[in-house]
Amino acid sequence: MAAAVVREFGGARRRLIEELQRKGIRDLTVLKAFDDVPRHEFVPTGLRHRAYEDCPLPIGNGQTISQPWVHAKYLEVLALTGKERVLEIGTGSGFLSALLTKLAGQVFSIERIAPLAEQARDALRRCGIEHVIQRVGDGTLGWPEYGPYDAILVGAASPDVPQPLLDQLAVGGQLLIPVGDRETQHLLRIRRTADGYERTTLDAMRFVPLIGAHGFTT
Ligand code: SAM
Repeated sequence: MAAAVVREFGGARRRLIEELQRKGIRDLTVLKAFDDVPRHEFVPTGLRHRAYEDCPLPIGNGQTISQPWVHAKYLEVLALTGKERVLEIGTGSGFLSALLTKLAGQVFSIERIAPLAEQARDALRRCGIEHVIQRVGDGTLGWPEYGPYDAILVGAASPDVPQPLLDQLAVGGQLLIPVGDRETQHLLRIRRTADGYERTTLDAMRFVPLIGAHGFTT
């Protein structure tokens, strides 16, 4: 990636990283990923001046790029080592996919809205990131051909945990998914063990709906 692209908005990016630290994010590898990926490349041109505010922003087609703190929280909870095979459901802007390339081994990402997937592909290319394996489709079905996954991250609110995602989790792997109604959800961490699944309820969050065969219908 051109150094100038990363340096652009450098002050705003540093202030965002300090804000994430103030809000409890401690993992230095996660904070470094935020320093390495220019979030302004993943928001519409007219909103670039707001790219480093800690809030979600519209990206078109009624969808949003999630709040940076939410992305940081997901990544801190997962504590990736750099070797993992990761599946992301809900590519959206592609910003979390880009962060994941800095922290995991292989990144697969599914988006149901084709123009958003295309937009994300362009943003990733502008940042010199060519190795996110993307697909357009219903992410509630997972992507069994490349599984099992060490981590599955769902970036949209689901009424329940889709069974195909549980099935595609490796033993020792973790699934992060916001579960609840359309208004509020809690982030669930589900870890697959040799004997079954362990569930932990984490923070309250608010996402756009996960729409698909194992999600909301509309
Ligand atoms: N991490 C992404 C970001 O910050 O850009 C999240 C984007 S948005 C909060 C959630 C995305 O999930 C939307 O782009 C939406 O179209 C997508 N989505 C919803 N249901 C989906 C499904 N069944 N399969 C794949 N993507 C889905």
